Amino acid sequence: MSPTLVQRLQSRLRGTVLGPADAGYDAARTIWNAMIDRRPALVARPLGVGDVVACVRFARDEGLPLSIKGGGHNIAGLAVRDQALTIDMSAMRGVWVDPVARVARAQTGCLLGDVDRETQLHGLAAVLGFVSNTGIAGLTLGGGFGYLTRRFGWSSDNVSAMEVVTADGRIVRASERENPDLFWGLRGGGGNFGVVTGIEYRLHPVGPEIYGGAIAWPADAAGDVFEAFERVLRDAPPEFSCVPLMRNAPPAPWLSTDIHGKPIVALFVCYTGAVEDGERQMAPLRAVGSPVGDVVTRRSYVSQQSLLDATQPNGRRYYWKSEYLPAITPDALQVLREHAARVVSPHAGILIFPIDGRLNALPGDHSAAGNRDAKAVFNITGSWERPEDDAANIEWARRAWRDIRPLSTGGTYVNFLTEEEGDERIRAAYGPNYARLVDVKTAWDPDNLFAANKNITPRRL
Ligand SMILES: Cc1cc2nc3c(=O)[nH]c(=O)nc-3n(C[C@H](O)[C@H](O)[C@H](O)COP(=O)(O)OP(=O)(O)OC[C@H]3O[C@@H](n4cnc5c(N)ncnc54)[C@H](O)[C@@H]3O)c2cc1C
Repeated sequence: MSPTLVQRLQSRLRGTVLGPADAGYDAARTIWNAMIDRRPALVARPLGVGDVVACVRFARDEGLPLSIKGGGHNIAGLAVRDQALTIDMSAMRGVWVDPVARVARAQTGCLLGDVDRETQLHGLAAVLGFVSNTGIAGLTLGGGFGYLTRRFGWSSDNVSAMEVVTADGRIVRASERENPDLFWGLRGGGGNFGVVTGIEYRLHPVGPEIYGGAIAWPADAAGDVFEAFERVLRDAPPEFSCVPLMRNAPPAPWLSTDIHGKPIVALFVCYTGAVEDGERQMAPLRAVGSPVGDVVTRRSYVSQQSLLDATQPNGRRYYWKSEYLPAITPDALQVLREHAARVVSPHAGILIFPIDGRLNALPGDHSAAGNRDAKAVFNITGSWERPEDDAANIEWARRAWRDIRPLSTGGTYVNFLTEEEGDERIRAAYGPNYARLVDVKTAWDPDNLFAANKNITPRRL
């Protein structure tokens, strides 16, 4: 009998390969968003770069489509693809920190918390996102923003090099000096150019203790809360980050029980300068009305990074809509408030992330991520449990988006694009950088082997 596809790939790898008949296959193809239900032909879990090279060559030899799974958190489910070879990076989670050079090298199966855990041992941090169990790879390759973005820019602005397995199975390094066109494209252009096996982050002295946490009010205080938020943010130093969230209160221990299930407005706050300055920064916000919960305090940076984790569990159904805003204005906040009040699920909400500061200071073509005219990005986050509630939740998110869209910069964040958002929205995500991305794609992946992403179509040669 000739060997099966699973056996043929397995014979080339140190890591494991699973096919549909194997135990563990269903767990391996399952991702964060339960709306996505795809069946790859094979799921391979490389243990090193050699395995990744073998997978890319195997896919080419066998004519199999490829997909790459970092943390599996992409809302559009880009990590998995029907009938494909899925390269699941989750067994490659090494992190090496050089505290003197202030650099961390991370393998791309890492989750954000893996990197924070190692860098914080040295009082250093990479610029990463807000939820500790999401993947570093998709986040960084699409741009990436978090509590440190006002101070240091996109996650990808803080990358000094990447190691990449290319479509023809070579291993290359991309940095300002080595393959600079590829390096430009990788910092925002997603997984379009190869399998990234390692990312080198420039680190910043942050933590291990910072001043941060969350504070919440009943939703009817939103007018006063937003007035104070806008006033404070206008003059706030880049060390200060403050993210409003509107939703119904979850049964979280930090919120008073009588508000559970009722609409709230919360601020997720992080100050990475001196703790005393953070307290001063927070005072005008704290003075608003009567908060129903306040856990803004001295805390570890690691705990700050996981404050929102519980709100985004694996296995719920999710649907998002998002845009960049040129300013956080009373008009925009009013539209978002009105739609937050109409939410149809206890888990859904609307988040507003200020991304002004360092990101705006770099030229628009510094890297593919671009959108450096944006001062904020909002995310309308539909989140619910039962398939029969799909239509109502999707419609809620779409309506809110339709009403706020006229206030957008015209740009949108590639990492928040949903399954149905295609070419027009991908172009909107890159704006003037799109044409150069096509050049990079054509040079590095002319046959579009890496297509399970928000795809940049190569030019026909
Ligand atoms: C709960 C939650 C919170 C989030 N918070 C933030 C946030 O604070 N800031 C922010 O900027 N974004 C945030 N995001 C969006 C997030 O950046 C994207 O979902 C991102 O795609 C997640 O990365 P991942 O590795 O888990 O993705 P995956 O779903 O595994 O992959 C996404 C894409 O990246 C590609 N890819 C993955 N690994 C590699 C690799 N090694 N080489 C090449 N391509 C690869 C895949 O091919 C795919 O196209 C959040 C998402 C979720 C679900």
